[in-house]
Amino acid sequence: MKVRIFDTTLRDGEQTPGVSLSPDQKLDIAIKLDELGVDAIEAGFPVISRGEQKAVKMITSQGLSCEVAGLARTSKKDIDAAADAGLNYVHTFIATSDLHLEHKLHMNRKEALDHAVTAVEYAKSRGMRVEFSAEDATRTERAYLLEVFGAVAKAGADRVDIPDTVGYSTPEYMAEITRDVVNATKLPVSVHCHNDFGLAVGNALAGIGAGAECAHVTINGIGERAGNASLEELVMALQCLQHEKKYETGINSKMLYETSRFISKTVGILVQPNKAIVGSNAFGHESGIHTHGVLNNPLTYEPISPDLVGRKRWMQVGKHAGLHGMNAMLGEYGIKPTEEQSKMILERVKALGDEGTKTTDVELLLIASEILGDAGIKKIVHLAGFSVSTGVGIMPYAFVKLNIDGKDFIGTDYGVGPVDAALNAIEKITGDIAEIKIRDYGLAAISGGSGALCEVTIRVEDSDGNKVSAKSVGKDIVTTSVKAVIDGLNRIMLRKLQDTKS
Ligand code: MN
Repeated sequence: MKVRIFDTTLRDGEQTPGVSLSPDQKLDIAIKLDELGVDAIEAGFPVISRGEQKAVKMITSQGLSCEVAGLARTSKKDIDAAADAGLNYVHTFIATSDLHLEHKLHMNRKEALDHAVTAVEYAKSRGMRVEFSAEDATRTERAYLLEVFGAVAKAGADRVDIPDTVGYSTPEYMAEITRDVVNATKLPVSVHCHNDFGLAVGNALAGIGAGAECAHVTINGIGERAGNASLEELVMALQCLQHEKKYETGINSKMLYETSRFISKTVGILVQPNKAIVGSNAFGHESGIHTHGVLNNPLTYEPISPDLVGRKRWMQVGKHAGLHGMNAMLGEYGIKPTEEQSKMILERVKALGDEGTKTTDVELLLIASEILGDAGIKKIVHLAGFSVSTGVGIMPYAFVKLNIDGKDFIGTDYGVGPVDAALNAIEKITGDIAEIKIRDYGLAAISGGSGALCEVTIRVEDSDGNKVSAKSVGKDIVTTSVKAVIDGLNRIMLRKLQDTKS
């Protein structure tokens, strides 16, 4: 069975506290979601502002392959605003729970039902496809809820949606109510689940299992309060956890991770590390038992292959590490210590772990290079020279010369400051020859005063999604930054080399 994916990142997701997007950003997100393969997007709530109206207009005139919907209350004004934004698909809603009727809408049940029917009829008369939501459905009295859904179906609604507005449902209840609504309307039913009790995806699955054919979801599960059902979790659960029923979606799962990253960056909300599918730890392993298992057969500790969602597995050494995992990690950088050296490295790693120090690949490689000496670790990229100029009235400018695998390359570029200019110049070279990008840059002062030591941490990423970090400490910010980047480049190129060998 094909499940329809209705993405509301641009509407419910944008209602996340602290999030506000410009029309251009909304258009970029809409294009990305369309590429991902969603069936429909909710582009916004046109009546709320001029910018929102403009954003929805830009999205409707983009000619996307997915359907584009907009939100409207049951008022004429809201529905007109949706139509004026170029929408031919409107998602209209009115609350039906006594709590909302009494304390928010100041209406009785009959009035709310009339509003719902009038709105559906009006939107249909304007030639729009209509999806109707009974807000707070899961806290609405069952008989009345079914009466409202039945009435809007009669009035010509094309779809109905069951919003679990405050995440108050359980999977069992969601299934029950979905069955009832399917029976009462004979229309395609959607479920819109919130995550207040961490049950959004479970509830959405239960709704689908009981006959809903569509779920409202957002990327990274962003949305009001604890958020909505997350697209990536629901899609992968549908695709991978097929026990009795077989489900499919139109989503290109290999794009899930990059889409998650893109949304996180654009809306400015970090993804929690232990988030399913897209969190940074979702395919990471540290414990010796786990890394050993995964190295023998990934299925031992990975329910799905990371490639399936556009990711890479990573391993980290720490106090739970074993020789196996650590040597595998070093092997990714082409480093092959002797048995004796391995033991020495692992001892140092465990000692750091016991002190409470996090051992990332940065520390591991530092320890390895101390024990093996420089000769034990191959360097592909050498800094042949660089100069920067900075001042007032002209853009800072950098000139960088790198020797990569015996060949000289020169890069020049401007930047907002000398570090930016130097990094841009380096990226010009590496971007051309190896598609390597500098992702994160962090600077910290270690001691006070103008002669302070600074510590630069950087992360570089290649086109295969490999990421490595490097750290450098020094007195000159620009030189230290350049050294950190060169270290990072060496590491990622060594990894690439190992990847192509295996
Ligand atoms: Mn919602």
